Amino acid sequence: MEVYLDNAATTKAFDEVTELMVKVLKEDFGNPSSLHKKGLDAEHYIRDAKDNIAKCLKCEPKEIYFTSGATESNNMAIVGAAKAKARLGKHIITSSIEHASVKNVTEALKKEGYEITYLPVDEKGIVRLDELQKSIREDTVLVSIMAVNNEVGAVQPIEEIAKIVKGADHEIIFHVDGVQAFGKIPIYPKRLGVDLLSASGHKFHGPKGTGFLFIRDGVRILPLIYGGNQQSGMRSGTENVPGIAGLGLAAKMVCETMDETSARMGKLKAEFLDMIMRLPDVKNNSGDAPHIVSITFDGVRSEVLLHALEDKGIYVSSGSACSSNKPELSGTLLNMGLSRDQAESTVRFTLSRYTTLDELKYTAATVESLFMQLRRYIRR
Ligand code: PMP
Repeated sequence: MEVYLDNAATTKAFDEVTELMVKVLKEDFGNPSSLHKKGLDAEHYIRDAKDNIAKCLKCEPKEIYFTSGATESNNMAIVGAAKAKARLGKHIITSSIEHASVKNVTEALKKEGYEITYLPVDEKGIVRLDELQKSIREDTVLVSIMAVNNEVGAVQPIEEIAKIVKGADHEIIFHVDGVQAFGKIPIYPKRLGVDLLSASGHKFHGPKGTGFLFIRDGVRILPLIYGGNQQSGMRSGTENVPGIAGLGLAAKMVCETMDETSARMGKLKAEFLDMIMRLPDVKNNSGDAPHIVSITFDGVRSEVLLHALEDKGIYVSSGSACSSNKPELSGTLLNMGLSRDQAESTVRFTLSRYTTLDELKYTAATVESLFMQLRRYIRR
């Protein structure tokens, strides 16, 4: 049996997405900026994709900008907002559990004279709101907080965070990395008070190398990429039409079925946790996201368990596979209060709409027998 439980790293594209992309590549290959029919045909795909995503987010199609993925969207949001507001202040607030595509951007800005506050989280990985309130200053120009953490699935209280940010005496841009939330939990940036929202296509059965940034109408940020002024000058370069078409279709498909799918995944997740938590010396780090399970297996290094599971056809991740191919200790787990030993013994299982109870039963039984064998080698 082959069981893919690394869906927070990436998902399999919907067949419909693959088929549509092949059609666009083969037949509708025009440049959307061309004035002839081939160009207009290509432009239609872009318009459809914007409509589909706007429906998911309950926003206007003109508020959607296509990128090469959430890494670019996060860079564009943070650098674009920081540079647009530089005259008003250079203080940025973010959390201590952000993905590298946020953290390493703020670290780079630090070298350019920006000051960064990294908010602490509680033992469940939730940002401390009192600390957020305290850290807002006159020169704060941007707050960037992820909606769902990719390592443990902690769901941040985005609405409360937005209220604090928007309650400040001056205007502060609020950016949300929505990668692990989009298509899994409802996220409506305009209702929540979010100015910028990033997402990545391959996390919701769309193509890799595609993503978008929602920019609320009226919010001004500077572009990251200059050129032929495509996408209103916010993101130059000939649009990736096949990718955008695939992204738009995947968004439509996940959003139309989000409630049932997330309820089903959430139920499977609970059943899986029930099976795993019967084992001795395990710790559950999982947050409320329906697709992410994080478990610490005391005394067994996560890579050892990962490869032992791989031998049985089960694919999981240790720490955060999608951010680095060099295993590094997870900042999220350490910031939640886990010891280094515990962080080194943590495995992430992530579900998708295709995950079945049989797969999870097989995984839980395999984890049990491997963990019991491997624990014998623990030095106590
Ligand atoms: N943010 C989060 C929370 C993520 O999980 C990821 C992907 N691991 C990204 C950003 C970056 O997405 P991409 O690699 O598709 O650019």
